[in-house]
Amino acid sequence: MNVSIWEKETFFAHQDVVIVGSGFVGLWSALYLKKRNPERKITVIDRGIIPTGASTRNAGFACFGSLSELAWDAQTMGTDKMLSMVEMRFKGLERIQKYFGKKSIDFDLCGGYELYDGATTPEKLKENIDYLNSLLKPITNAKKTYRLADEKIGEFGFGKTAHLVENKLEGYLHSGKLLQALLQKVRRMGVSVLNGIEVTHFEPGDEKMVIRTAHHFHFTASRVLLCTNAFTRELLPEIDIVPARGQVLLTSPIKNLPFNGTFHSDEGFYYFRNLGNCVLLGGARNKAFEEETTTEMDTSQRIQQELEAYLADVILPQFQNQYIIEHRWSGIMAFGKEKTPIVKQLTPSLFCAVRMSGMGVALAPVVAQQVAALMD
Ligand SMILES: Cc1cc2nc3c(=O)[nH]c(=O)nc-3n(C[C@H](O)[C@H](O)[C@H](O)COP(=O)(O)OP(=O)(O)OC[C@H]3O[C@@H](n4cnc5c(N)ncnc54)[C@H](O)[C@@H]3O)c2cc1C
Repeated sequence: MNVSIWEKETFFAHQDVVIVGSGFVGLWSALYLKKRNPERKITVIDRGIIPTGASTRNAGFACFGSLSELAWDAQTMGTDKMLSMVEMRFKGLERIQKYFGKKSIDFDLCGGYELYDGATTPEKLKENIDYLNSLLKPITNAKKTYRLADEKIGEFGFGKTAHLVENKLEGYLHSGKLLQALLQKVRRMGVSVLNGIEVTHFEPGDEKMVIRTAHHFHFTASRVLLCTNAFTRELLPEIDIVPARGQVLLTSPIKNLPFNGTFHSDEGFYYFRNLGNCVLLGGARNKAFEEETTTEMDTSQRIQQELEAYLADVILPQFQNQYIIEHRWSGIMAFGKEKTPIVKQLTPSLFCAVRMSGMGVALAPVVAQQVAALMD
């Protein structure tokens, strides 16, 4: 099938920027690129009928780092890098609220918590809390970002939990509603978003890049921005990205569910929250690292069983036989040797903003702003 002259002069007309990937990073990037220059012609293309990676398949935590994760990051990445990541996420959460408010995307700063078993002493926890509170104060503007909240363990009804650390500045949002709001916003700004188109490769030219697709048409653009996160190696095999599948389950409604908030445990490998009076639980990737290093968007019996056991033993020990599992799904994250995102100019006309790790909801607005500045 050939392309008509009408199609050639509209959908396939030469663009200033083509963005590949319409997850959070692709859409926030379109927003900031347009904001910096409203005249820019921008098309975002995605191979999914809807964005199909992590952005609409995550847990919807609005978080910037649990106590144990940040303590570990400070040790492994150095304090400065850890703080710069926290600042990016914290600012990202502020921007999400600034652009979309709270109500339309179910954003609620209901509190984030981390569960600890008896292996960590309260003295060690207090030491880490004091240390991180002083480091984070210039970012969060709060004297006590974290506090020990052991008194809530009984109230929440958790099993196998010795300590609880609370962060009042975290919470949750509705990832699907945020993505739809972003889509509507960039479309209103004049960005074209096309779905069901798989990019296979690029041909760099003197004046323009040719973006080849798995279909009978191609695109041309002065610049191309890859926002393909975990799938980037299909287009750039040499990039340091390792895919990591995250599996999730959701229970049926539970009468008198005793908690409201977002929760991490086991160094962040388990995470759960309430969605109304249902429980959304994800993680357990550490129980089968090799199998979960994949871009296949299935669920596996092994991980789902681990999640169900955790649900019964730790989260809902008092609710045995009072719920069923109503939904199961997975999404794909991107990690690498380093935890920081890759925001880079690869050639004069090719850029990328990828490797969003496990907190890309919060990171995306700031990463997008950085790459938009790089592309000026
Ligand atoms: C189970 C799970 C739970 C998570 N929980 C949270 C959380 O609670 N809070 C949080 O902050 N973060 C969370 N994350 C991480 C967060 O969702 C991601 O970091 C973020 O969504 C990444 O956004 P992105 O736009 O970079 O990538 P993606 O959303 O993966 O978007 C990439 C897009 O590129 C498209 N694409 C790929 N290759 C091509 C191609 N060749 N041609 C065309 N299109 C292509 C894909 O279809 C996809 O839509 C979670 C992730 C998972 C998987």
